[in-house]
Amino acid sequence: MLGSYGGREPGCYLPSFLFNECLLVDAGSGASTLTVAEQSRLKGILISHTHLDHVGEIPFIADNIFGTKDSSLLIISLQPVLDDLHKYLFNNIIWPDFTVLSAGDNPILEFIGIEEGEEKCIAGIKFIAYRVNHSLNAVGYLLSDENGTVLFSGDTGPTEKIWKKAHEADNLRAIITEVSFPNFMKDVAEVAKHLTPKSLLEETKKMPADIPIYLYHEKIRFHDEIAKELEKLNEPRLKMLVQGEIYEF
Ligand SMILES: [Zn+2]
Ligand SMILES: [Zn+2]
Repeated sequence: MLGSYGGREPGCYLPSFLFNECLLVDAGSGASTLTVAEQSRLKGILISHTHLDHVGEIPFIADNIFGTKDSSLLIISLQPVLDDLHKYLFNNIIWPDFTVLSAGDNPILEFIGIEEGEEKCIAGIKFIAYRVNHSLNAVGYLLSDENGTVLFSGDTGPTEKIWKKAHEADNLRAIITEVSFPNFMKDVAEVAKHLTPKSLLEETKKMPADIPIYLYHEKIRFHDEIAKELEKLNEPRLKMLVQGEIYEF
């Protein structure tokens, strides 16, 4: 768990999860939290959506790994998500187009578009994307290896499909989903398509029973208030993720 917060201040990093030391899911903080050697070992980055708190450090990772590997770092998501990333970030204005730049035979980054519901595999990790309910094109992922499956919802308001797919998943070990705002900010959460502890509780009823639910994306200044509201829900499956911890499933 490299970064778990829905904001940034010293010591608090934006969302990024490192799976099996070779695959990032979102890159709000991969460059701030991994050494350059660790960044060079990455095979790919799965992107949930293009909000800056989820893609903001891909440019620095690309810069850091320039000339360190033979193969391209694969940037993977739905094609419309990748198109936006290309057009608005790697456009030679905000940052160089690292899908063209190369220090050898291959470009530094290669964008790989996937279809919703299509199973793919990278570095021994199988993954499938499903759309969730955020304010733009956004997906969550089911990620599996020989030890089991983990569901990452990405940023989402109340949603349906990915929870249905969670019921069908083989050996589901953990659900990672979001809680961004305290209950008094429910109107903001509704507009921005995020969850509060109260709306999260409704979502938990759609999820398979007995699976631990790990939470990320809390706004930093509401961390304690959200933690208290979660406790009051009396739902033992819910746990806030701790940044920097290693989780084994
Ligand atoms: Zn977002
Ligand atoms: Zn976010």
